[in-house]
Amino acid sequence: QEESYEAGYNENERVYCRVRPFLGGQPSHYSSISNVEEGNISIITPSKYGKEGIKTFNFNRAFGPSATQGEVFADTQPLIRSVLDGYNVCIFAYGQTGSGKTFTMSGPDDLNEETIGVNYRALRDLFYLSDQRKDTISYEISVQMLEIYNEQVRDLLTTDNANKRYPFSLISQNGINVPDANLVPVSCTADVINLMNLGHKNRAVGSTAMNDRSSRSHSCLTVHVQGKNLISGNTIRGSMHLVDLAGSERADKTEATGDRLKEAQHINKSLSALGDVISSLAQKNAHVPYRNSKLTQLLQDSLGGQAKTLMFVHISPEPDALGETLSTLKFAERVS
Ligand code: ADP
Ligand code: MG
Repeated sequence: QEESYEAGYNENERVYCRVRPFLGGQPSHYSSISNVEEGNISIITPSKYGKEGIKTFNFNRAFGPSATQGEVFADTQPLIRSVLDGYNVCIFAYGQTGSGKTFTMSGPDDLNEETIGVNYRALRDLFYLSDQRKDTISYEISVQMLEIYNEQVRDLLTTDNANKRYPFSLISQNGINVPDANLVPVSCTADVINLMNLGHKNRAVGSTAMNDRSSRSHSCLTVHVQGKNLISGNTIRGSMHLVDLAGSERADKTEATGDRLKEAQHINKSLSALGDVISSLAQKNAHVPYRNSKLTQLLQDSLGGQAKTLMFVHISPEPDALGETLSTLKFAERVS
């Protein structure tokens, strides 16, 4: 049984694409997406984007607008088992602001059993699977939640005043890259929900209508798992990073000045650094450029080697978003 469950998981890097539905009230017949089938997504490109016609992009999986949260998560489950087996796993949500990254990872504002996202489902599976093994392996699970904003790493799990979310330096200790940030032991999904709520609240601080900080920063929920084999006495360590990336859209060249321009440059730099790392891993290059951003430094142990990476690439169906959709798909092509 278990073998077939793992079947098809030989590649360590996978890219899935998800198209979100039209949001309330929008006419659905103007979609820029012509078809979502198997791993393919076909985009209708008008002549202003080069050749008029239909361009098809291929992914390990493609999810159309009607895919449920459960369906999107189903293929991710084998990765959760890997974490308990001592692997490092990274799951990313990439896409322009509004394309559905937070929906996939966390879910919408009104959370229920159906709408909960990857983060919650992943943790729930971790608890479930670790409990199944409790006669042979005793697991300790703890989480950190960090934000990278303007190339500074901050703790999202602090109850201090938001101003005290000091920027931390990256120093690896026992596989923990930000040992100074809060690391909170968790034993059930309710613990995790409370922490995620705290993290989301802290992440929103500093946002204004003009400048929604949550779309300009990367957030990373890191789960550290340590298992002690009760028979052999051996210890295994695995980790999982669940990353809701900053919006990938290009800053409006005429409008971006000052702080906004700086933010845009930092986002651009870190997303291209991430793309460079994943594509050089996919091509099995000898040199992997981890040092070019805080994001890739933070995730270094979990990108490459035995680690497993899953990128959810998000696109919006509106024709207005087509320019960004095409650049998102080009990014996805580069990393797959
Ligand atoms: P992002 O995090 O990429 O900026 P969000 O996840 O906040 O985007 O999504 C933007 C809006 O679209 C939200 O109101 C969200 O609830 C909605 N949305 C996104 N994806 C879906 C989906 N698959 N099904 C239904 N609503 C979605
Ligand atoms: Mg978001």
